[in-house]
Amino acid sequence: MGYFPKPLVVVSKCLGFAHCRYNGLVISDYFVKKLRLFVNFNPICPEVEIGLGVPRNPIRLVTKKGKKKLMQSITNKDVTEKMNSFAKTFLNSLKEVDGFILKNRSPSCGIKDVKVYPRIGKVASISKSTGFFGDIILEKFPYLPVEDEGRLRNHRIKEHFLTKLFTFAKFRELKKSRSMKKLVQFHADNKFLLMLYNQRLLRLLGNIVANQYNKTVDKVIEEYELNLHYAFLKAPRYTSSNNVLMHALGYFKKDLSSKEKNFLLESLNKYNAGRIPLCVPIILMKSWIIRFGQEYLINQTFFEPFPEELITCFPLSDADMKRDYWE
Ligand code: SF4
Repeated sequence: MGYFPKPLVVVSKCLGFAHCRYNGLVISDYFVKKLRLFVNFNPICPEVEIGLGVPRNPIRLVTKKGKKKLMQSITNKDVTEKMNSFAKTFLNSLKEVDGFILKNRSPSCGIKDVKVYPRIGKVASISKSTGFFGDIILEKFPYLPVEDEGRLRNHRIKEHFLTKLFTFAKFRELKKSRSMKKLVQFHADNKFLLMLYNQRLLRLLGNIVANQYNKTVDKVIEEYELNLHYAFLKAPRYTSSNNVLMHALGYFKKDLSSKEKNFLLESLNKYNAGRIPLCVPIILMKSWIIRFGQEYLINQTFFEPFPEELITCFPLSDADMKRDYWE
């Protein structure tokens, strides 16, 4: 169905690219490995970049007078300033980037649940926070997909991450063309996907594309991008896909028998009850799109927001079903 430009992704180097962990190890991550064919990775190890070497004494987050510090155990070395300065220089030097995959719980790369200690030495952690590099990424790119490899094992988090990543990569390419025609096409192709994420912003984006006040192409693209980022800020609600599929069903009003329509409704009920994954009703709908040659729906990215090789159509695990975890 779709064409996908390769997204540019900054990744923690220890996730399969180099033996740069403090103990000289590398981590083999299945998903990162699989993604190599579909994205352009930019691997980086902030700790090696600030000269800590491999192997090295591990570092940890420590609170000192209410301030978070990055300290090396045993040597008692404070590397906070070095890490801050490296992170800012590196991130400012990135001309283009679509997303980040970072090592979970690392005091440098972590974006969540990094242990914070009251001091170095043998002592229990007292809270959790973000790592220094991860923190600056989240601050500088609040709208981009930023995840760690641990959270990406959750089916729903992964789908949201990939959807944003590939949509933004497409938009980045469109921006270079500075073509109004391509923007109109982009909006038309993403209507159902935007309907899934945020109906209010779908309408607003439609008005921006309509360009009632004859703004320049650059201005229109700038406004569109800003609101596109807002639209994808939060993962869609669990049940929003039902609305989109019901909307799509309307295109087959005259083509399908009532038994076929009921079959789709039953599938949606099973999906709502957590008994089957979303890909089941989606594949069913795709088969009708192909059978009846529904040209308008064929191009809707909702049915394939990222390369189909990356879609995992398996029964949801208990972790996947914890809706609070991803919403
Ligand atoms: S977590 Fe980050 S800093 Fe630590 S080894 Fe991996 S890439 Fe390097």
